[in-house]
Amino acid sequence: MQKHHHKVPKEFFLPFAGLKLGKHAYNFKVGTTFFQAFENDAFDACAFDVTLILEKKETIIVLDIQVAGTADVACDRCNDPLTLRLEGTQQQIIKFGTGSYEETEEIDIIPENSWQIEAGHYIYELILLQLPAKRAHHESDCNATALQRINDMLPGDTTENEKEPDDLRWAALKGLKDQLD
Ligand SMILES: [Zn+2]
Repeated sequence: MQKHHHKVPKEFFLPFAGLKLGKHAYNFKVGTTFFQAFENDAFDACAFDVTLILEKKETIIVLDIQVAGTADVACDRCNDPLTLRLEGTQQQIIKFGTGSYEETEEIDIIPENSWQIEAGHYIYELILLQLPAKRAHHESDCNATALQRINDMLPGDTTENEKEPDDLRWAALKGLKDQLD
């Protein structure tokens, strides 16, 4: 089923009912306000170019989505700003009906009488999927002063505490996953 995010900007609703069969291209710029619409603050700032090809066929619609851009996050290790370069593609097939098809990650089913597709959430999920599990500078580029300060704040000896940054990363990832679900 399509998820409905009422704050998704109107431009991401693609009215396909009046389109001719064949391919139709759309371009979007996605930034911080887009993510705010999804109540996601994973990025301090971001800027993505999105190309979407909507192919209208007799009985299905195929979306080919391409995202490329940058996202600013806090480094997992030193917490200083880090700019990630992210890009990815996804093909999404959309069928119509009442559930006679099995829905998968690639196949989405929308009601028979639909006349538009909310493409925003596909773009949103595609960008988040590009996030690497580890988000950190090259070790030598980390803020040494900040690392020392973080280290000083951790109780006990260093060997025992090596686990902690991982736990923090997991918590951050889980937060992202919850947003997606
Ligand atoms: Zn760092």
